[in-house]
Amino acid sequence: MQGLILEGTTEDSIRLSNDIEHVADLQPRQVRVEVRAAGVCGSDLSCVHGKYYMPTPLVPGHEAAGVVVETGSAVTYCEVGDHVVLSTFGNCGHCEVCEGGDPGNCGALGALAQPYKEGDQPLYNFANIGAFIQETIVSENQCIPIPKEVPLASAALIGCGVMTGAGAVFNRAQVRIGDTCVVIGAGGVGLNVIQAAALSGASQIIAIDRAPTKERMAMEFGATDFLLADGDDFDAVAEVKALSKGGVNHSFEVVGSTALLADAIKMTRAGGNVCAVGVPDLTATVTYGFQDLHQNKNLMGIRAGGGKPRRDFRLLADLYLKGKLKLDEMISNTAGLDGLQAAFDALKEGAEARTVLLPHGE
Ligand SMILES: [Zn+2]
Ligand SMILES: [Zn+2]
Repeated sequence: MQGLILEGTTEDSIRLSNDIEHVADLQPRQVRVEVRAAGVCGSDLSCVHGKYYMPTPLVPGHEAAGVVVETGSAVTYCEVGDHVVLSTFGNCGHCEVCEGGDPGNCGALGALAQPYKEGDQPLYNFANIGAFIQETIVSENQCIPIPKEVPLASAALIGCGVMTGAGAVFNRAQVRIGDTCVVIGAGGVGLNVIQAAALSGASQIIAIDRAPTKERMAMEFGATDFLLADGDDFDAVAEVKALSKGGVNHSFEVVGSTALLADAIKMTRAGGNVCAVGVPDLTATVTYGFQDLHQNKNLMGIRAGGGKPRRDFRLLADLYLKGKLKLDEMISNTAGLDGLQAAFDALKEGAEARTVLLPHGE
């Protein structure tokens, strides 16, 4: 089958292959999914640039939705024909952490696997999925059925961008009615922080981005103010403090910049939440002034929105079907698997929200 293979740490070390196979038949709790849609997320770019320190060769991609085509002998979470959103949580499903309701904290997350091969060469998968391919094999824990009324290209975004952004608001910061927020970075994840904060009743949502094109979408998704990070004179901390009369209740750093995370701490008022949503190079170090955090502020590391995928994906799909959560509006482009480089270029320019790749064509 067709899929993309990453062989190094540069964008030109990705190639399209027509000869990828699965290495083995399904294990009892595994599911084979035809990938119908796979979003291109900032983490895909970080993966390709080596910032996740993944071994290669690997099949990239991690934000996907598709149709179940085969289930292992013990699978009970989904059936052949189900439309599913894939979760990046390759959690075990039965340790005390999973059973305690925190699949995102399971020790099995991040375990490496080589479910594919090209000829004799085994291939790793990114984020327990490897979604830029026509069919993937995942654990049933990672297959969350959703109503068939949700278009699969839109549903794919739930798997990462929507869960990461909305989950930071709903699960971790727990924004309440009347709260004030700043969202640094208004791309695919930032827009979801914005719309979830708006759904939660935030009274002020200040969006900051370096691309002027982001203003329109940020405001449509519920931002009350937009600050263009432009020019040497721009002082984000001072601007946010002025707009929020001293600092916000919740700051969300979505870019994955350690300097911006340090700024976010300063933008947050005493007792507020500082939410580290964006992912820098995994070996990065953050430096901040002790006094900036000292006033009872909570600095939160947030991986994938603190999600509980089997509960949250259905909730997010339901909010979409009720017209309360925007998904379709986030898709700026669709393309075949050969469209990845153009999607990366658009991401780097900050020009758009999401490109969704369709491994079986339009
Ligand atoms: Zn577990
Ligand atoms: Zn992602």
